[in-house]
This record gives sequence, C-alpha cells and structure tokens, in this order.
Amino acid sequence: MSAASPPGTRQWQSSDQRHHLHPFTDHKAMAEQGGSRIITRAEGVYIYDSEGNKILDGMAGLWCVNLGYGRQELVDAAAAQMQELPYYNNFFQCTHPPAIELSKLLSELSPGNFNQVFFTGSGSEANDTQVRLIRHYWALLGRPDKMTIIARKNAYHGSTIAGASLSGMSAMHEQMRLPVPGIVHIEQPYQFALGADMSPAQFGLQQARLLEEKILEIGVDTVAAFIAEPVQGAGGVIIPPDSYWPEIQRICDEYNILLVADEVITAFGRLGEWFGSSHFGIRPDLISIAKGVTSGYLPLGGALVSDRVGEVIINKGGEFAHGFTYSGHPAACAVALASLRIMRDEHIVERVRERTAPYFKQRWATLAEHPIVGEARSLGLMAAIEIVKDKSTRERFHKDQAAGSRCRDFCVDNGLIMRAVGDTMIVSPPLVVEERHVDELVDIAWRCLDLTAESLEAS
Ligand SMILES: *Cc1c(COP(=O)(O)O)cnc(C)c1O
Repeated sequence: MSAASPPGTRQWQSSDQRHHLHPFTDHKAMAEQGGSRIITRAEGVYIYDSEGNKILDGMAGLWCVNLGYGRQELVDAAAAQMQELPYYNNFFQCTHPPAIELSKLLSELSPGNFNQVFFTGSGSEANDTQVRLIRHYWALLGRPDKMTIIARKNAYHGSTIAGASLSGMSAMHEQMRLPVPGIVHIEQPYQFALGADMSPAQFGLQQARLLEEKILEIGVDTVAAFIAEPVQGAGGVIIPPDSYWPEIQRICDEYNILLVADEVITAFGRLGEWFGSSHFGIRPDLISIAKGVTSGYLPLGGALVSDRVGEVIINKGGEFAHGFTYSGHPAACAVALASLRIMRDEHIVERVRERTAPYFKQRWATLAEHPIVGEARSLGLMAAIEIVKDKSTRERFHKDQAAGSRCRDFCVDNGLIMRAVGDTMIVSPPLVVEERHVDELVDIAWRCLDLTAESLEAS
C-alpha cells in the first residue's frame, strides 16, 4: 500500500491481520502482499474498497448477490421482521409465518414433485442435511446398508465435514483427512482438461458411465445416492456436454439411487431458469439451495425434498434427529421471501434467459480470440476462460508462473472482480447486470489478459 493511503486502511489491515482468521486464505502470503482489501460499501453491481476504488463485482459476492447491492426492499423486509419477531425456532412442533410462507413459495417455484423444505443456515448445512435425509430414507425403507454416496472429483459441496467430504477437492481432503467413510468420488465431465480429443457427445456419455461403473464396482445394494452440481461452480465453471445429464438420470433410475442436485449456485436464475435442473432436464429427488435464495443479504440454505423422499419420512413416523438453531431463521426467511418475490415480479429469470445471457454469451465468446485463451465458455450468467501458453496444444503455463492469480490481481487493480481457479478465470455476475456492465466486464478482462501475457513474458 502506498504512503498516501488514508490512515483508516492501514489500521484496519493491521487489526485484521492480528485478529481475523480468513476462510480459504494463506495468511502469510496475504501479509507479504500488503494485507487484506477492505470492502466498505456497495451499490448496484459495484463494490467500493476503503481506498475509494470502485470495482465491478463479476462474482456477485460469492455467487450470491443476484439482485445486486442496495435493494431497499430486502433491507426493509429484514428490519420489519426483526421488529416483529427477530428469532424463534421451528423445533418441537413450533413454527412462524416467514418459514411457513417461504416453504410454500419454494414449493411453488420448484419442480412439480417438490413439496417440502428443510431449512438450514448455509449450503454446507444443506448438504449435511441431504446426507442425513438420504440415509434416514433408506433406513426407513428397511435398507440401512444402502448408505454410500457417490460424488465427483473437483465438485464443491461445502466446508463442513460432510460438505467437504462430498466435495472432490484434493487439497481439502488432504488437509482434513477426508472424506469420511461412505462417500466416494468419480471423475468429472471437464472436457477442456480431460477430453480434448473426443466429441462432446462421446465425452459426456463416457464421463456419465463412470457412475455406472462405480455403482457396479461397489455393489448396487450399498449405493444410496449420487450428488452433483448441474454446472460445477467453484471447480471452475465446468459445463457438462448435453449428453451427460440424461445418461446420469438413466443410471440413477435404473439402479434405484437417489439423485441430489446441488443447486446452491444454479438455482434462482443463474442459468436462466428457476432451477438449473430444468435447463438440463434433470429430475432430482433432492435439491440443495442457499446463496441466491436471499441474494446473500442474510444467510439461509435448505434441502428441498421431493414427494418420493418426503412421504416416506413423514408417513413412516418417528423423529428425524437433525436440526439447527437457525433452521428457518425468521429474518432470513423474510429476506428470502422479498428476494424471490422481486425476482418473480420483475421477471429477472426470463430477462436472464432471453436478454442478458445471450448478450453475455456473445461478448464473452470474443475472449477466446485472445492469444493466451484456450477456451471461453458460458451458460446463463456463469462463465470461464482457460489461460494457456499454447492455444493449439492447450499447454498451460508453468504452475510457478501463477498465470491465474496474476490475471486476477490485474483485474482487481483495474476495477473487476474475476476469480482464479488455477489458470481458469471465472465470473458469475449479479443477475441484474445490464449490457453496459457486460461490455465493461469483457473489456477489462481483455485488457487484463494483455497485461497478464506481457508480465508472463517478462517473468
Ligand atoms: C457455496 C457452495 C456450497 C456451500 O455453501 P455455504 O453457504 O458456503 O456453506 C455448497 N454447494 C455449492 C455448489 C456451492 O457453490
């Protein structure tokens, strides 16, 4: 930081460094690079830091601020609910109006056979809940041995012990000695990295059939469920070929295993549909939600439960021994209601599908012409570019050259939040971005790819 920095920033940074352990952060590296960036306010699709820099939020926070910042209706909904009833729980045969109304609205918005929701405080807790629902369901049907859950490498399902076990992130597994028993992984449908020499249709089928192979390998009587994100988010916006999901669906149906769609990112308009499952024609038995459900204004997650599972759990009786103090927090539910009603009344999902996403797709695709870009892909308002040294062979830059983090740092210095997953650059802007914001995003991205290429040459 330069000597001209206002004193506020330096003081905050040193206090932050002394007392605050950040998620997914190398603290030593952060200190060496001058300390944390302090975001102080936000408006629309822009965030502002303590130095007064205005930055286009290409990630909508962490894939969540779908309606953008500064929506007064959401603030008012939280304030009004906090006045009326700031907290009560849904345990022991109690409930409250915001939880009731939100449950009803979610079942109206979700696919036809989803009529129940179990609320949580986050996406990780939603997936923990799924593990418990799945095992409880099969046990109630007299199949307690049907308990193994199959997930995918490079998936992200959260950071609790169950969430991180379901996730297929090797760095998380190594550090935490995960996964816990009863969770296994298959390879992902990441064509740029794993299937360059195949047609998309062939590659999609091949990767889906890995599920069938795994089921047969470990024994169909032991497999309870398969969980996956319709489009992998944190893994690098990995969009499966069209042949992938129908084959996954066939396999789940044929072997009678539950299908869980982790829609923590893809629900509520991200792919131009209320649920990403609809885009791909997936018929899940369980759906995880969080993030965009409140536009990130307050924490809330949930497991949406189809009749297939819900009826067994309800009709067989007995207690489902699971719950969180903040399951269905009234203020969070009130904000979710306000947020979903805005999305519905302002036709945000339709606008993404019909206007914003097609425009974004066409602008984003131009980045593929950049000399260090091997691929530019997008679906709805999720997108990635692959930084490569050689476009024709897809050869990457050496790991130590850290091309992705270089590009990310240039972006933030030039007014754009774009995230790096290795050398894959990703964005997921607020759903309310307008065409001029899309232009700005793509222009900054191009310029920063130039800067990245120059600096890599000099390194
Ligand atoms: C972010 C995310 C989660 C975890 O949600 P948290 O609210 O951070 O616990 C789970 N699944 C997916 C697909 C996510 O992107």
